[in-house]
Amino acid sequence: MSTYSLAIHGGAGTILRSAMSPDKEIAYTQALQAALHAGEEVLRQGGVALDAVVAAVSSLEDCPLFNAGRGAVFNAVGGHEMDASIMDGSNRMAGAVAGIQGIRNPIRLAREVMEHTEHVLLISDGAMAFADARGYERMPADYFHDDFRYAQWKEVQGTEAVQLDHTVKDRKFGTVGAVALDVHGHLAAGTSTGGMTNKKFGRVGDSPVIGAGTWAWDRTCAISCTGSGEYFLRGVVAYDVSCLMEYRGLSLEAACQEVIHKRLLEINGDGGLIAIDRQGNIALPFNTEGMYRASVRAGEAPFVGIYGD
Ligand code: ASP
Repeated sequence: MSTYSLAIHGGAGTILRSAMSPDKEIAYTQALQAALHAGEEVLRQGGVALDAVVAAVSSLEDCPLFNAGRGAVFNAVGGHEMDASIMDGSNRMAGAVAGIQGIRNPIRLAREVMEHTEHVLLISDGAMAFADARGYERMPADYFHDDFRYAQWKEVQGTEAVQLDHTVKDRKFGTVGAVALDVHGHLAAGTSTGGMTNKKFGRVGDSPVIGAGTWAWDRTCAISCTGSGEYFLRGVVAYDVSCLMEYRGLSLEAACQEVIHKRLLEINGDGGLIAIDRQGNIALPFNTEGMYRASVRAGEAPFVGIYGD
């Protein structure tokens, strides 16, 4: 195997050309290009898929435009609780964190869970104690402050409403993710999110749940999802794509179409995913108006997309 592939996403939802300013479109495009470049550099130099995923997702986490890391949405008490997961397709090892606070790059902490514990998922205070033990810096609250997201939260603060990253008017899910195939023939996937605005009671979506929001297995595919997490949990979406390939022999594209445009819609689920198979084929399906996405294959020009048309 001497080829590589990489795909990333910055969330799906009601992303309409008509509602996008030229400046905003440029900012999103550049942020996606930068993250794709960060991941591709790793792969181009012969690095492993896992490192490419961490490089790409970290770049998106550092960008306030996306609902992950620095741009994480506000929860019901005005804080930020983040979730992330990562999976190595070569051995199906996985690591995840949920309900963590103050960590600049949750994807890195998820990887530490995979590599330095016997566990898969650490949550809340326990995950934070683990972060402390691994020497992670806690970023101050103002690192995560974003006027736009603060205004979003203020609109629903004190109510029962739980909002996805943007309101219905301009609704999207700014979760980020990456999937990669490296030149050694291995797949990896990672996903990171701030969840939903005004979330409470320790709500956790699909992003840190292996099989729901993230999945990687060299035998089938690598997947990272974005959308209303509850539906992705109920549909075990990422693993379902893999199962359709394994059990029914579907191609990556056919399996993705079946899951996103049929099975997810049957339960009224909205969102999308990014996927790569072991040949390096890429699929970027979504059933919303748009999805921030980008991909590249060795020797080919990169693709960046936002809208569905
Ligand atoms: N899936 C994420 C969640 O439900 C949201 C998103 O994709 O933006 O937490």
